[in-house]
Amino acid sequence: TTTQQTQQLLALDRAHVWHPYGPMPSTISSQLVESAAGVRLRLAEPLGGNRELIDGMSSWWAALHGYNHPVLNAAVREQLDRMSHVMFGGLTHEPAIRLAARLVEITPEPLQHVFLADSGSVAVEVAIKMCLQYWQSVGRPAKRRMLTWRGGYHGDTFHPMSVCDPVGGMHQLWTGVLPDQLFVPEPPAGFDAEVDPAYAAELATAIERHADELAAVIVEPVVQGAGGMRFHSPGYLTLLRELCDQHGVLLVFDEIATGFGRSGALFAADHAGVSPDVMCLGKALTGGYLTMSATLCTGELAHGISRGTVPVLAHGPTFMGNPLAAAVANASIELLLDQDWQTEVKRIEHGLRTGLADLAGAPGVRDVRVQGAIGVVQLDHPVDMAAATEAAAREGVWLRPFRDLVYTMPPYVTDDEDLARIAAGVGAAAVAG
Ligand code: PLP
Repeated sequence: TTTQQTQQLLALDRAHVWHPYGPMPSTISSQLVESAAGVRLRLAEPLGGNRELIDGMSSWWAALHGYNHPVLNAAVREQLDRMSHVMFGGLTHEPAIRLAARLVEITPEPLQHVFLADSGSVAVEVAIKMCLQYWQSVGRPAKRRMLTWRGGYHGDTFHPMSVCDPVGGMHQLWTGVLPDQLFVPEPPAGFDAEVDPAYAAELATAIERHADELAAVIVEPVVQGAGGMRFHSPGYLTLLRELCDQHGVLLVFDEIATGFGRSGALFAADHAGVSPDVMCLGKALTGGYLTMSATLCTGELAHGISRGTVPVLAHGPTFMGNPLAAAVANASIELLLDQDWQTEVKRIEHGLRTGLADLAGAPGVRDVRVQGAIGVVQLDHPVDMAAATEAAAREGVWLRPFRDLVYTMPPYVTDDEDLARIAAGVGAAAVAG
């Protein structure tokens, strides 16, 4: 594209295209991406003097293997030659069957049944629907509220929004519209921290007191992502499992961001060896290639639903089980599991720890934390998003800071040299922002 074409396209973009959390007509200038390969995005016009930027974001936790990967490209092409999509009502196909069976195999043992939808938010909708419908089906219809901890993020459709952090979020727009859920404080910070007895007692009291109206507890295990990039001890997952069992409350883990190795375990639940009743997956499920999510549940939950007066799960999106997405998900999972992914994630963890170490104690920096292939610098002030983004781009890195956070979750295929540049980009963004 020529400069003139680029400017025309961007003018149309601003006039017509909504971007995430964007105003309209848009006052935000997006970067026009021409192509992406390996860990690099190629822009139509330079940003910070660079047209090629290393993607420090994995396109929001998704592109584990980078872009334009020959194995993933081949999986999509092969499937495209057979069929790109067929309805899932009354029809089924090999890619979806294989994907569901594989997900059951690699997730914690009691998860047996898989609902394949098209986005993370819908996976969470389906998870909540499963829980509410279960209690209705087994004769406990009063159990219809969700409990969650603060600081969470579960998506932007209505039920997921109702369990997102209510502070500083957009809940004030939806007073009286969102289902009224129960919130407890988020767990004390720190992956390696001991479980805090006072916090545990508070959690126990909330669950016990509200057990008769609680359908389920929903949390992001170990890593709270878009709600604040916080890490907490797997011990809180063990505690939640015990409390939910004790009081007859279901447990949902939203692993849409953490799934497929990001936190250092294949699923964050594995850090604690804890099994939820329902698990949500998305983002990296397809290696970031196509939009697909999965909601897994136990046999007991599915059996309960089948005993109800409406004995079916009342959900069925048009693009459910999409064959192209399922085929690339199968290829992405095999690509991940066929390699020593733990070593790769550890290498990234080590690279980020080393590369970000100097920022701890720097002016304006409140905290530096790394867990798995996630690096976070928390500032003591709101970040200047445009200045921080440009400063990272000057180092040849694409980042998307928000609130008081400059953070990265690189593709696992990022080599050590590019990883060092990402760390430099985070540092530059933290200083400039
Ligand atoms: N749950 C978690 C933990 C997420 O991080 C996200 C997306 O950021 C979602 C749910 C929503 O997924 P989607 O944006 O695909 O609807």
